[in-house]
Amino acid sequence: MGSYDYDLFVIGGGSGGVRAARISAGLGKRVAIAEEFRFGGTCVIRGCVPKKLYVYASQFPEHFADAAGYGWTVPEARFDWQTLVANKDKEIARLEGLYRKGVEGSGGQVFQSRATLVDAHTIRIEAEDRTVTADQIMIATGGRPNPHLALPGHEHCIFSNEAFDLPELPGAIMIAGGGYIAVEFANIFHGLGVETTLVYRGREILSRFDMDLRRGLHETMEKKDIRILCHTVGEAVDRRDDGRLDVHLSNGERLVVDQAMLALGRIPNTENLGLGEAGVETGKMGEIVVDDFSRTNIENIWAIGDVTNRVQLTPVAIHEAMCFVETAFKNNPTRPDHDTIATAVFSQPEIGTVGLSEDEASTRFEEIDIYRAAFRPMRNILAGRDERMMMKLVVDRATDRVLGAHVLGPDAGEMAQLLGIAVKARLGKQDFDRTMALHPTAAEELVTMYKPSHSIRNGERVG
Ligand code: FAD
Repeated sequence: MGSYDYDLFVIGGGSGGVRAARISAGLGKRVAIAEEFRFGGTCVIRGCVPKKLYVYASQFPEHFADAAGYGWTVPEARFDWQTLVANKDKEIARLEGLYRKGVEGSGGQVFQSRATLVDAHTIRIEAEDRTVTADQIMIATGGRPNPHLALPGHEHCIFSNEAFDLPELPGAIMIAGGGYIAVEFANIFHGLGVETTLVYRGREILSRFDMDLRRGLHETMEKKDIRILCHTVGEAVDRRDDGRLDVHLSNGERLVVDQAMLALGRIPNTENLGLGEAGVETGKMGEIVVDDFSRTNIENIWAIGDVTNRVQLTPVAIHEAMCFVETAFKNNPTRPDHDTIATAVFSQPEIGTVGLSEDEASTRFEEIDIYRAAFRPMRNILAGRDERMMMKLVVDRATDRVLGAHVLGPDAGEMAQLLGIAVKARLGKQDFDRTMALHPTAAEELVTMYKPSHSIRNGERVG
């Protein structure tokens, strides 16, 4: 080990890479990390963090409208996009500094540079035009938006990266995609006053989530005047003489918008990384293939986070980093646990979910009971807001185990984090029933649904 410059070299200073570098350096390992853009990676710079800040920003019009029912008179509100962008920039710069400092403070060395592999132990620091060597190498280079080069006019389109920093707020936007990023941005732009159309080729937005919630969210978004066109794709985008865009849709319609955003999945950052030179195997999507311990086919090279295309979420990348440290440096081989991950869609209303959807559970279990409640949350009543909240538990009849818990409504993400503990712990419906309600909350509904709304036996709905 002593013959290498470092015990560990990490390529990519995002959620996973920074965690792996910081904790390993804290153990006294000689660690270096290279980041080609900004420390913090996708999550901090152009993902979770700015996204959530923009979600908050976009919720104010509804808060202002709801205030009247509670006796408040709110003067006419005005929104300034540039202020939001500038304040967001300040916050992510602060976090970026913390990420960097965290590594340096633990004794790690930071390179502001692109890094590539020369061979299984040698890394090129591009900005300094030199190579260094390392015993262990961690690849945590993340992913980027799918550019959809097959779309004529794709060069006129933006992606989530650019959406955060548009020079001005568009009057109208078309967002292509039906995943959580597309849905969240549709709600953000709509909330900020942008005429928004979501175009999705599938049957219903948010595949892989529970169908009840997908439909419920779809209906609510449409009631708010977000246009959603399913079974539809953008076939071409043209720049008009007035600078706006014509988006030609597969349904024959032509949308005139100021921005067209593509949110059609993400691809792993593995190009020109020297993987071939080091002999690292990649999969069909270009993702790095790893074993259960995040080790590649080359013994001393590891990969974590989005670049492995397992579960593309920040806490997962961080968890994989922690498991790597246990395995590589603490003589405690630890597999990342990807089972039962709570997640949220920060739409308006929010979705919070953990475990199996009704459809998934019905194919895997002989008989399931569905407990479902749909109601107007208290805070919407004086506000005069017609939006309903939905909660749902999916229960295995044979064992009473709660297989999935799903919430659509205010604070659903916060609830899903806590429901995640119960579902992960494989608690039974009886444990929910034995839990005293906390009144008055919306979440109390989760422990007071005593009778199934319906059951599914061998895939068929009964009762
Ligand atoms: P990244 O965070 O992408 O970091 C990779 C880093 O590597 C980047 O900084 C990149 O510049 C750098 N890099 C790449 N190649 C090289 C190289 N050759 N040399 C040096 N540096 C290199 N997840 C959630 O859990 N919750 C959310 O709400 C959420 N919202 C999201 C919203 C959006 C719009 C997006 C795009 C993503 C969101 N995610 C969310 C996903 C989350 O951001 C990612 O799962 C997470 O950032 C993955 O971490 P990572 O370490 O694998 O990669």
